[in-house]
Amino acid sequence: MPDGRITTIGEIVVEIMADTQGYGFRQPMALHGPYPSGAPAIFIDQVARLGHNCALISAVGNDDFGRLNTARLQNDGVDISAVHVIPDLATGSAFVRYRPDGERDFVYNIQGAACSRTALTRAAEAIIDDTAHFHVMGSSLFSFRLIDDVVKAVHRVKEAGGRISFDPNLRKEMLDIPEMRAAMDIMLQACDVFLPSGPELLMLTEAKTEDAAIEELLALGISEIVIKRGAHGASVVTANSRHTCAPLSVCEIDPTGAGDCFGATYVTLRLEGEAPETALRYANASGARAVSARGPMEGVSTRAELDACLSTAAEVWS
Ligand code: ATP
Ligand code: MG
Repeated sequence: MPDGRITTIGEIVVEIMADTQGYGFRQPMALHGPYPSGAPAIFIDQVARLGHNCALISAVGNDDFGRLNTARLQNDGVDISAVHVIPDLATGSAFVRYRPDGERDFVYNIQGAACSRTALTRAAEAIIDDTAHFHVMGSSLFSFRLIDDVVKAVHRVKEAGGRISFDPNLRKEMLDIPEMRAAMDIMLQACDVFLPSGPELLMLTEAKTEDAAIEELLALGISEIVIKRGAHGASVVTANSRHTCAPLSVCEIDPTGAGDCFGATYVTLRLEGEAPETALRYANASGARAVSARGPMEGVSTRAELDACLSTAAEVWS
């Protein structure tokens, strides 16, 4: 099924961001939002913008934060039949302020929000049974119940001959939770395509160097390791090839969502039959376009926009 459906699972949230850099949130301050967000939601919206058949398994509350998200996803072409509306919980939210060094710091309402009830409902199982490629975000593995359902879905897709991709999307609190660490290891064993950010390679392996980490991961049976390097571009390594892409020269306005757009573009183009190096070039452009827009999901790209970006933007060798 070369052109089959891409599905992902996990949190839908709204993001509300501070207008100014600094140590905000201990006093009233100017904020911007709500913006549609959640790593899996951004990922799947980018797949849809590329015109590919796709679905999201998630949950929202019966409120305008939920409707803001579902309307965007549906308008862009995502199948939201497995986005469950939970009347007694609010849609998740993430408030973010940027520290003076550019680091992001979040206040999340996710554990107690509707997205924490994301589950393999009947509707979700129907989607899973019609999925060629299943993508998992580490940020979505935040409860026992979710981990259980994600692992079930992964095995179901694999047994039916589908492929799995995994973006650890580690948040600093996550590796201290033993069951989360175990879930990361299950995903490393199960995935075909692994999409870490550079430092995650060393956090999730025993290795001390990037090359040793790559060896360790290839030995697990992962066929493609796609490394995101923020403003330094990206690389892809397979058992017998290695390609690197210099970053495109853009003005970074908001880094949130770049990795999700990058991953979505890589996975979609590979499923559509492009070679790893071509998928990497487009993914690199997708990430660059994502950071150029304010708002986590506001920088998603069509194929035509990526073509235009690749024909005009300069590569910066750093
Ligand atoms: P997140 O912290 O949101 O999880 P990530 O680590 O998953 O992000 P990044 O490495 O920040 O993802 O970005 C993904 C890709 O987007 C990069 O590998 C690169 O191709 C592109 N990109 C990101 N930032 C820039 C930038 N400032 N200039 C050009 N390209 C960029
Ligand atoms: Mg990421």
